[in-house]
Amino acid sequence: MIVDTFGRPLKSLRLSVTDRCNLRCKYCMPEDTYAWLPRETLLTFEEMTTLTGLFTELGVDKVRLTGGEPLLRRDLPTLIKLLRRNTSLTELALTTNGVLMEAEAEAFYDAGLHRVTVSLDTLKPDRFKALTKRDTLEQVLNGIEAVLRVGFKGLKLDTVVIRGYNDDELVDLIEYGKRVEAEVRFIEYMDVGGATDWSLNQVCSRAEMLDRLGRRYGRIEPVREESSAPAQRFLLPDGTTFGIIPSTTTPFCSTCDRSRLTADGMWYLCLYAKEGIDLRQPLRAGASREEIKTLIRSGWEARRDRGAEERKAFERVGTREAQLIDIDRLRQDPHLEMHARGG
Ligand code: SAM
Ligand code: SF4
Ligand code: SF4
Repeated sequence: MIVDTFGRPLKSLRLSVTDRCNLRCKYCMPEDTYAWLPRETLLTFEEMTTLTGLFTELGVDKVRLTGGEPLLRRDLPTLIKLLRRNTSLTELALTTNGVLMEAEAEAFYDAGLHRVTVSLDTLKPDRFKALTKRDTLEQVLNGIEAVLRVGFKGLKLDTVVIRGYNDDELVDLIEYGKRVEAEVRFIEYMDVGGATDWSLNQVCSRAEMLDRLGRRYGRIEPVREESSAPAQRFLLPDGTTFGIIPSTTTPFCSTCDRSRLTADGMWYLCLYAKEGIDLRQPLRAGASREEIKTLIRSGWEARRDRGAEERKAFERVGTREAQLIDIDRLRQDPHLEMHARGG
């Protein structure tokens, strides 16, 4: 096992399979068009599998497929099968917007995918359209049903809560989660690349969410558990659990064991990192497995990232909004976008 400068192990990898997306969520891809990663630079499934194998030799045991929208990458079951041959992987999961899930769920299940998270910010069709610029809520809900129908257990529904957009739907989403037997997780709105019109007053904090839910449900208890997962879990009086990911108000950088590989093989050690380590270039130049592992090991051992905590420090001096990466810089380097590095 390797650890970084703060003693954090290298454990979980988010593997982005495409930077493209069929939605335009206001908090992630607010523009209509983007500079896409050139196709010839995208890693093949074999290259992704090779790199993942090197990561698992260095301690990674959980991989999450993400994007952009991962279902836009054709033939994903083939990648799932290749990755599942790696016995060091104890968890292979997928995060999706759910739009294309209905037709794919069975093939993913059969290929050996362990778990699915579907992003779901609203249950109102008009609002979904306003938030994502697409009128596809019905497909998402059908996708969620398909995930459950084909046999996946432990489905999670992730909601980015934004004041003035969907902060009045917390109860409705919990009730929907109860109906379909999925755990809802509320994510605080983050000031990451892509969220170019983020402002602090749009962030609905964990404290505020708990207060609203408490008024409806009564006493809410924290679930006590040992976990490096970012979600803090809570219990309602009727036994329903839900999660809150308080990345903005209560960063969890001190235990962060995750890194991100973009679809073109750039490795980022933090969601907020401005620079990554190019793994595609040495891989395609014929570097040995040991040479690439040395690159990964030395990158992780030098890691000092704690992006969300640093943003918090800027907040204390009133300059957090000024840290957002402006749109021109995002256009010059699409890797800085949230949809390139996988959320
Ligand atoms: N397209 C897939 C989806 O939406 O589930 C996977 C990629 S998406 C970038 C991964 C996650 O990042 C989603 O759950 C999304 O809600 C979250 N996300 C994107 N922008 C965010 C922001 N500004 N603040 C908090 N979460 C964000
Ligand atoms: Fe929305 Fe995910 Fe697409 Fe970003 S990548 S616009 S969060 S669906
Ligand atoms: Fe990890 Fe960076 Fe997120 Fe902190 S901001 S939890 S270091 S990815």
